[in-house]
Amino acid sequence: MPPGGEFDLIAQYFKRPVPRGMLGVGDDCALLPLAPGCQLAVSTDMLVQGQHFFADVDPRLLGHKALAVNLSDLAAMGARPLACTLAISLPRVDADWLQGFAAGFHALAAQAACPLVGGDTTRNPDGVVISVTVMGEVAGERALRRDAAQADDDIWVSGTLGAADVALRWLLGQLPAAPQALQRARPFLERPTPRLALGQGLLGLAHAAIDISDGLLQDLGHILEASQCGAELWLDALPAHPVLDGLPVDVRQDALLAGGDVYELCFTAPAARRQPIQALGAQLGLPLSRVGRVQAGDVAVRVLDAQGRAVPVAHRGFDHFKGSS
Ligand code: ADP
Ligand code: MG
Repeated sequence: MPPGGEFDLIAQYFKRPVPRGMLGVGDDCALLPLAPGCQLAVSTDMLVQGQHFFADVDPRLLGHKALAVNLSDLAAMGARPLACTLAISLPRVDADWLQGFAAGFHALAAQAACPLVGGDTTRNPDGVVISVTVMGEVAGERALRRDAAQADDDIWVSGTLGAADVALRWLLGQLPAAPQALQRARPFLERPTPRLALGQGLLGLAHAAIDISDGLLQDLGHILEASQCGAELWLDALPAHPVLDGLPVDVRQDALLAGGDVYELCFTAPAARRQPIQALGAQLGLPLSRVGRVQAGDVAVRVLDAQGRAVPVAHRGFDHFKGSS
């Protein structure tokens, strides 16, 4: 640990003022006031060096992403952020790195009104490991759960798909180099935007929602499994990021259907809500695309082309123990 040690490090990089009524860093626990009639929404996501990020990634972007991927889970439930905790393991104390990481983390925390209120700091010679827990609140029983999709619901996707996937593949050298396209795609991989306002706006409009972290087919599959429904998905309706234009058809299709690290929301809603959902997208300046339909029957996704023919699917998404499948 540094000259001053663990506690100076925490005080310098992580301790920040918290809103009135909260107790933040410095005691055995943080204390958070909860609004009456609200449910507490809690989620944890880890980022492991070599698995989720390159050792030389800009620490400011990493600080942003560590919190963003967690806020995305709150967004997918329609929860409003309350506060977060950060557990971090570091091989050494590198002041410049910590400065950048903390700046990226706290900037998003401030923007999302999700102050850092506690955590844990340890040493790990093998690399950086980050675990963030976010807490949020949702009124009553209104949270957007995975098990609430209904037959005949529309399936919607926010924003665009595929840019993070091809950015990663360019960085790994799995696709022929295309520096300008990589430059456009890279922020989707390294600086995702959690769709908090969308998630909260969908309360009372959508039935079920999930954030697309592991690939659309896999994540939509989680909704269908929990809701015991099937679905058809219209390949041509998927909102492809323009950076996919001109890439081979199989690369493009894989990026759209199985590409991870998207952090857009996939949600289902009754057809009667189309207008207010479009209005919400317009209000947020966020395109919302209707990409399929939930169906009664087998838990399965049928991907259809513009002529309504079934499209064979190579990969469904990412699994840490199976890899891409
Ligand atoms: P304890 O021994 O009670 O677990 P620690 O010594 O681990 O407490 O941490 C001291 C205080 O600093 C606690 O309030 C803890 O929540 C906070 N803290 C430790 N590491 C971090 C971190 N990475 N980010 C934010 N707060 C932290
Ligand atoms: Mg501790």
